[in-house]
Formats: sequence, C-alpha cells, structure tokens
Amino acid sequence: MAPKYVYFFGEGKADGKADMKHLLGGKGANLAEMTNIGIPVPPGFTITTEVCDAYYKNKQQYPKGLDKEIAQNLSMLEKLMGAKLGDSNNPLLVSVRSGAAASMPGMMDTVLNLGLNPETVMGLIKKTGNERFTWDAYRRFISMFGDVVMGIERHYFEEILDKYKKKSRVKNDTDLTTEQLKNIVEEYKEIYKKNAREPFPNNPAEQLHRAIQAVFASWNNPRAIKYRQLYEIKGLIGTAVNVQAMVFGNMGDHSATGVCFTRNPSTGENKFYGEFLINAQGEDVVAGIRTPEPIANLEKEMPAVYKQLFKYKNILEKHFKDVQDIEFTIQENRLFMLQTRNGKRTAPAAIKIAVDMVKEKLIDKKTAISRIDPNQLDQLLHPTFDPKAKREVIAEGLPASPGAATGRVVFSAEQAERLAEKNEQVILVRKETSPEDIGGMHVSQGILTTSGGMTSHAAVVARGMGKCCIAGCSAIHVDYKKQLFKVDGKVIREGTFISLDGSSGEVMMGNVATLVPKLSDDFATLMTWADEIRKLKVRTNADTKIDARKAREFGAEGIGLCRTEHMFFGENRIDFVRQMILSAPDVKNLKTKIAYIQKEISNAQNNKINVLKKDLARAQNEIKYPMTAYMSALKKLLPMQRRDFEQIFKEMDGLPVTIRLLDPPLHEFLPQEENNQREIAKRMKISFQEIQEKVSALHELNPMLGHRGCRLGITYPEIYEMQVQAIIEAACNMKKKGIIIYPEIMLPLISTEKELIILKELIQKNAKEIMEKKGVKVNYLIGTMIELPRAALIADNIARHAEFFSFGTNDLTQMTFGFSRDDVGSFVPEYIDNEILEKDPFQVLDQEGVGKLIQIGINGGRSTRKELKIGICGEHGGNPQTVSFCHGIGMDYVSCSPFRVPIARLAAAHAALEQPVSRATI
Ligand code: PEP
Ligand code: MG
Repeated sequence: MAPKYVYFFGEGKADGKADMKHLLGGKGANLAEMTNIGIPVPPGFTITTEVCDAYYKNKQQYPKGLDKEIAQNLSMLEKLMGAKLGDSNNPLLVSVRSGAAASMPGMMDTVLNLGLNPETVMGLIKKTGNERFTWDAYRRFISMFGDVVMGIERHYFEEILDKYKKKSRVKNDTDLTTEQLKNIVEEYKEIYKKNAREPFPNNPAEQLHRAIQAVFASWNNPRAIKYRQLYEIKGLIGTAVNVQAMVFGNMGDHSATGVCFTRNPSTGENKFYGEFLINAQGEDVVAGIRTPEPIANLEKEMPAVYKQLFKYKNILEKHFKDVQDIEFTIQENRLFMLQTRNGKRTAPAAIKIAVDMVKEKLIDKKTAISRIDPNQLDQLLHPTFDPKAKREVIAEGLPASPGAATGRVVFSAEQAERLAEKNEQVILVRKETSPEDIGGMHVSQGILTTSGGMTSHAAVVARGMGKCCIAGCSAIHVDYKKQLFKVDGKVIREGTFISLDGSSGEVMMGNVATLVPKLSDDFATLMTWADEIRKLKVRTNADTKIDARKAREFGAEGIGLCRTEHMFFGENRIDFVRQMILSAPDVKNLKTKIAYIQKEISNAQNNKINVLKKDLARAQNEIKYPMTAYMSALKKLLPMQRRDFEQIFKEMDGLPVTIRLLDPPLHEFLPQEENNQREIAKRMKISFQEIQEKVSALHELNPMLGHRGCRLGITYPEIYEMQVQAIIEAACNMKKKGIIIYPEIMLPLISTEKELIILKELIQKNAKEIMEKKGVKVNYLIGTMIELPRAALIADNIARHAEFFSFGTNDLTQMTFGFSRDDVGSFVPEYIDNEILEKDPFQVLDQEGVGKLIQIGINGGRSTRKELKIGICGEHGGNPQTVSFCHGIGMDYVSCSPFRVPIARLAAAHAALEQPVSRATI
C-alpha cells in the first residue's frame, strides 16, 4: 500500500486521532480528535511529520505522490467549504501552521489568510461584504508570507503600520481606515519586492506550495533548534503541517479571537482562565500587540458564545484528562476551536492541578506523580521577597509568572546572555518578547514586558521556564536606542538594579531582599504519594545542623555525605586547623626519621650504636615542638568537631548519618596570596617565611591526584584519630540523651584494599577505646567512597572490609574522563556544542563510561557482600536522569543537597513507575 502522507479532518470525522502525535504532530492529532468528538473545528488536513523527515533526507524534495494527495485533500476541503482556493468569486482562504509532536510554542512558523491576491480580495469583499476586514487580512498575509517564506524581517512591515497609526494619531490597528489599509497593502508589496527581489506571488497554488515548504523548513530554524536543546526534545522526526480553512476573528465587533486555559496555569485554581480580543486575529493575542480582555468579560459581551465555550472547555478537559490550553476564534458570533493541547503551567499550579484531579477522580495517583517534572520543583523551592523588605514600587504590570527576581536591567537577549556569562544577574526588559529572545530569557532572572497579556509569548515561555515574569506593564516606556526606560518621570538606565514580583506584578527599584519559600499542603500530599511509590531512599549531603534540618524538612532520610572539612573553615577554628597543618609535615618527617634510626639501631654493630643513639635523641628532641603544636591544635579541634557531630546526630534522630573523614589536600586550608599569608603569620605569631616555606612544601602540581583523601589518614593518622574520637564521643553522648543514632564512618579516595585495612583498624581501635571509656556501646558502620576507577574495578576485594559503598561520582567522573573537575569550563561547553559530549558529565552522570564503572563496582561489591548498602553522594545524586539510573542499577539510596531532596524523591518515584523491576533492597 502506498504510504499515506495527508490526513483529512472535517464534518465530525477525521482520518487521525489523539494518539497519532508522532505522525500528525500535537496540533494535527488534537484537531482530528476534536473533530471526532464533535467540537466545532474548521476543516482541513495535516501533512505528516514523515514528509518533513523525507524533505530533509531527500535534499528538500517532497516524497512522490504528496502533491497528488494534497490536491485531493484540498479539493475535499473546497467541497466542504463550498469555496475554492483562488476563486475570484468565492475564494477559500487557508492557514498553514506547524505542529510537532512536542509543543514548541511560537518556535516554528505559521501563515494565515493564504489565498489572497488582487482578484480574490474583490471576491472576498463581495462574499463578506466587509471591505475593511478584507484589506486587513490581505496586509497581514503579505507580512506573514514575507517573514515566514522569504525571511523579510518583520520590523519592515511594522514600521509601515506604525507610520500610518502615528499619522492618523490612533493607538490600535483596528482604528485604521479601509483606505489606509489599502495603501498599507501597496507599501507592503513594495517592501516585499525590494527585499525578496521579486513581486509578491499572486497564484494561490504557488502561495500554498511555498508556505508548506517554509513551515517544514522552520523545523530547523535556529530558535526551534535552540528550544529543542533547551527542553531536551529528542527523537522527533520533524513538524507536521496543518492546512485549515480560515475562520476570522477580525470581521468586526461580533468577531473575536482568544486563548484560554481550563484552569489557572499560574496558580492551578480550578477556574476558567484566559483572554480574548474583539475584532482580531490569533497572532494579535500571542504577540501581545494589543492588551486583551479577561475571559470573564466575554460572558457579558457575547453570552451565548461564552456558554458554548464554557461547555467545550469542560468537554475537552474531561476528554484529555488534563488542563487544556485552547485557542478559539469567533467569526460573527460563531465559535470555532482552533487548537487544544495540554497547558504549560507553573510548578505550584502543576501540583495543585495534579492533586485536585486525583480528588476529582479524573486521574489516579500514579498519573498525578508522572505529570510533575521533578526539575520543575526547583521553582517551588526558590525564594520569594521578604515581606518586611522595603519596596519602592515604580510600576505594576500583569503577574504573568510567579517568583522573585532581582538583577540589572538589560534591553536585549544578547546583552542578557553576555552579562550572564560573567555571572551577572539580569532582568530582561522588552516591549514584547519574540521567540528569538529565548536564549536571553533563559539566562535572565526575570522578564519584564511593556505590552502583551497573560498569554503573550513572554508569559507563556517564562511560565514554562519557571521564571518570574511581569507582562503588559504599560506605564514603562522603553527606548532601545538610548538603552533606558522611563516610568513616571524616572529614567532607568541599563545596568540599574530592579526587582520583579511575579506574583503581584510589581516592579521595584533596587535589589529587594528575598525569603525561602513555604511549601503547600498539596506539595506535601504529592510527596507522600511519591514516597509510597519509590524504592530508592533519598538522603542529603549536609555539613551543618541548619542544612540537616532543612533537608529533613524536605524529606531527607538521613545524611549520605557529611564533609568534615567544611567544618574546619569556621572563623574560630581555621587558625587551629592551620596550626595543625603547619606542624604536620615536620611531625611526619621526623617520625619517619625516628623510625628509620630505630630500625638502624636494631641492625647496627656495637661501634655505630652510640652515634645512632645520639641521632635518635636529637630527632626526639626536634619532634617535641612540632608535635606539641600539632597535638594541641588537634586537641582544640576535637571538642568543636564533637559538637558539630552532636548537633547533626540530634537533627537526624533516628536516621543514618554518614560522616566522611578529612578529604581535601591540606594546602587548601592555607592562604595562597602573599598579603593573606602575612596577615596569618602576624596573627599566629610565626614568621612570614615559615608560612611561605610550608605552603611551598605542601604545593603539588596535581593536588586532585595528590596527597588527599585516605592518603592523609595514612600519613597523618592523628587527624583521623581525632575525627573518629569526635564522632564516637558525640554518638555516645547523644545515645545517653536518648537520641537514636546510626553513625557511618566513611573513608574517601580509597584505591587499594590495604589502605582500607589499615584505616579500618585505626577506626576500630580508637572507637573501642572510647566506647570503653564512656561505657556506652554504639553500633556504627565503616564504609568507603568509591570514587576512583581502581576502587570500582577491585570492589569485590574492597567489600571484604567495607560495610557500605558510596559512589563519589564527582571524583569518579574526574578520574574516569581525566577532566579536572575545576577546569571543565574551558572546553566542556565547546564539546557539548560540537556534540562530542551530550551533556556536562559533572551535572548528568555519564552512564556509558562512569556508569559502567559503577555497575562493575556494584556487581563486585555485592558478589562479596550480598547485602552491601550502596548509594551515590556526588552532585549527580540530585539529577533526575541520574536518579533514574541509580534506581535501575539497584542502588539503595541517593544523596543530594537539601534543596534537591524533593526533586530526588519525585525522580525516584518516576523511576519506580518507569522501571518497576529494580534491585533496590531497602
Ligand atoms: C565526590 O567525589 O563525588 C564526592 C562526593 O566528594 P567531593 O565532592 O567532596 O570530592
Ligand atoms: Mg570526592
């Protein structure tokens, strides 16, 4: 059978249906579905995504037979409409719209009013009796066709329109007269001819052919490509093209066009939401050219149509079982639905809607969970403005997307991107945004537009991004040339700090203080559903009681990584740490010397012994001073560390706490700059030279591969002994107070079995002594991080001594790729641009390579110790894709920063829904 490339819809019957999105695109599939369920949809046909695929594969040639199929479908459409494309007495006009399987709002192209030329214009005037409308449609067609098909920049056309509006001192294009529109059409044609170097095509068949081709080509325009990259839209073969009979919202005061949502996409409230414009075409609403009216006003202005619209929106939401984002047009009191799709929504709205819909029995809990993108939760955890902070409100616009944003004013997307590269926070201020601005919007803290409504481009895109946005702030007058805006007599220049409150619509001067947000009851409900489903435990990486408390509030089930070195940086202890470090190398060297002499003495002849004994006495004398300094520093640090651990155990009452012994190279604690070294020398009452010598003695060419991790414990055992003492004493003290503790002592950077044996013995010996002294028995585990490829490869041997593994994927990624984790910025972005790497492997786990080592490590470890507890504590632990991987390979838990805990909980539930069989054990 010959392949079918075109699918018809019309008169209550369609060739396609909703589940054919891959082939018909979201728009095409839903137009078909709406037609099938009796919703009034203007008839038309959809050319499949396979044609787009073939178009690109065959050097932009259509597959054979397509033209014939289009002709057949067009003639069916003409029959149904009782009008013909290009007929000078009774012309049919069509729209040509894009629509891929995944929604990419505004990224690809659309041509409306196709079929107009000097003859059909006359025909349409006769047919509609509406001369003004016809000329308005014609000028729109020329500019759209010029822009979409010939790439003529829109501003050429806009300037002409503005010129006419200015000349006749009117604000809206609806105020232009027929005569003016006629002149505008002529000027548009001139502009077209000048830029396209050919006259505007009058043949409607040619117009259609070229428009279809242009829409297919828009699949690969830069903004569509960028959008797919940003939203990780993959695996699609292209866009479909929908050719549909035009209906007109610009036929006068009984016509209108609008966009609506079945529920509020900003808050999730179950209340009909949307806006419309009388006497306008759809593009006017989306582009924000005029500020539309709220949908509630339609009830007053066209009650019968409103009633119908209300009925259809209910049918659509029930049918698709999700919030619908609907486009509609009213042509002389007759309602048509032009599109329906699942509505994009903010994170709070997504949660409220999901929970409400379960309560309404529209969906089940699993569906509710799967509807929330874990990454989206980030928005909820973002700050709001401190209500106590002073607000100098300078203007108010529409609260288009909630959140609090502060930053420097910029007036272009490019400038936003430039400053964001330098880590500047920016607010993008535009008259209106267009799809080209997507990159700049992405890097901005917030977006402010002076025109456009709640469904304008800026609002829709910002909501999808979870970005704060104020739209339609008409009190602000932007001057792009002078790079400033004026408001109420004030002049705000580029670079000035302003703040946006996306929930109230207020624009404020300066950098207003923000607050951490509170989470709703719906959020808590959804999270408990996620917890019922997930198999992976979620712990947190926390080093302070404050972080631990926050993480527990967010649902952490213990600490997976407490980095003890962070505790060393506190104001009152860093000097003791430095004292310890400054004396440590001398202690080490002298200890080695003493051991060496002692060995010599035991093997020496009589005549040499006396000399050696003198050497020994000298060395023993020499070590006294550094040893005293070293041990007294450790003694000072001990109670501080103990208090840290006591506080953390208390916060994590009843939950496991994994404490990692000291990891970073010691020089990290010493100042590297001369002025700082001088300051410290003065404070510590030692000479500047001494500090300099010590810093240079500790200097390593590759500190990340150097004297760090468990290697410190081997060479400076007193440091680890002090830490073990602090942990076990804290555990005993807390146990005595009735706190339930599960300490887990973790060794970093293990690469050989022997390292583990030595350090395990050190821990056990010290812990035993302390427990005996305290008269308290504490059950604790000793485990290791797996963060070196060698450790993963010999995991079977390592598991003989380790009671748990925690994959430190930051180092494991660094060591597997040989990419310094601190220097990736210099080349990884280029690697991603050139598709050498798909993603930054420090953000999303490289499953192919690092993942393989993890799998080897898990298999090896569990082959020795079946019930080995295994987790991940690298930054990847909070990344949803990585969480899914960890679930699939049978880890027991992931550990991530406190603010990512809810994200990991939800991601773990998604993973359990997607991969019901996993090896996870607890
Ligand atoms: C790791 O390497 O993944 C890890 C968690 O340790 P750190 O980041 O402290 O080196
Ligand atoms: Mg590490």
